[in-house]
Amino acid sequence: MPAELIDGRAIAKKVRAEVAERARKLVARGVRPGLAVVMVGDDPASAVYTTAKAKAAEEAGMYSLNVRLPADTSQADLLSRVDALNTDPKIHGILIQMPLPAQIDPDTVIRRINPAKDVDGFHPVNVGKMLIGERDGFISCTPAGIQVLLKESGVKTPGKNCVVIGRSNIVGKPMAALMMQNNENANCTVTVCHRHTADLKSHTRAADILIVAAGRARIVTADMVKPGAVVIDVGTNRVADARSKSGTKLVGDVDFESVREVASKITPVPGGVGPMTIAMLMSNTVRAAEMTLR
Ligand code: NAD
Repeated sequence: MPAELIDGRAIAKKVRAEVAERARKLVARGVRPGLAVVMVGDDPASAVYTTAKAKAAEEAGMYSLNVRLPADTSQADLLSRVDALNTDPKIHGILIQMPLPAQIDPDTVIRRINPAKDVDGFHPVNVGKMLIGERDGFISCTPAGIQVLLKESGVKTPGKNCVVIGRSNIVGKPMAALMMQNNENANCTVTVCHRHTADLKSHTRAADILIVAAGRARIVTADMVKPGAVVIDVGTNRVADARSKSGTKLVGDVDFESVREVASKITPVPGGVGPMTIAMLMSNTVRAAEMTLR
């Protein structure tokens, strides 16, 4: 029997409705949650992402500020914009769209964001809080969204072997750290695989929950998956497709058609992890605003 689809769009819609309700309550108390999305340069893919984030914020009843800066913006200028947003009472969440132009060091910029407004969860203070299991920080949106997908689709995680492919700071590492935490949505035995992993298949075959964030089109094939495993595909890769108008299509890191015959549950690409990332950004922003009232 083919795997059940984990419908990221439907689960994200539910999260966004909850966020909109929380935003309404805040507005009633005189606080409109505000998200600033900062983009430097004119990369078309980044423009699509930033527009989608601003639109989602508006749909949730939040104030959204789209800051577009020219590609030759200096690091000092960007840092002073961040300083201004850090002290702007209308702004509760600050997001710097990556990648940044070469003259700007992304780590320096991330460290400049007030951790209480770091709704992307990339500031070392928030990464550290997540690692030690403190709940008052922000968790980066993609791994946080995956944890919600697992919960909402009824996957029981405690005691399971969770294998994460990829160890980036934005997906793989925080994902692994989240799944090893001591709580009912985690408590997994976690293995992290990466480019230097010898015999990837021997690890993936042992996974009850396989989370793939390698950025390599269809590297996970059916023979690498344990029958009945839950498979979460984070990858977004453009590949040639003669049948589509644009000549390309979006695929994940998982060979969906073959793996869905083996897995028990699987996320599609698109429509799986992607919608959750934006939903969790909204959730983090509304929480940042709620925290100002405490
Ligand atoms: P990255 O390039 O920073 O990291 C990729 C990781 O995968 C590295 O740690 C690398 O060691 C590992 N890797 C690469 N090839 C491998 C292989 N053959 N075997 C084992 N490990 C391998 O990428 P990232 O930023 O973590 O993103 C990963 C993918 O997820 C990309 O396709 C990206 O577009 C996608 N992504 C999607 C969302 C979303 O919301 N849907 C969010 C973030 C990232």
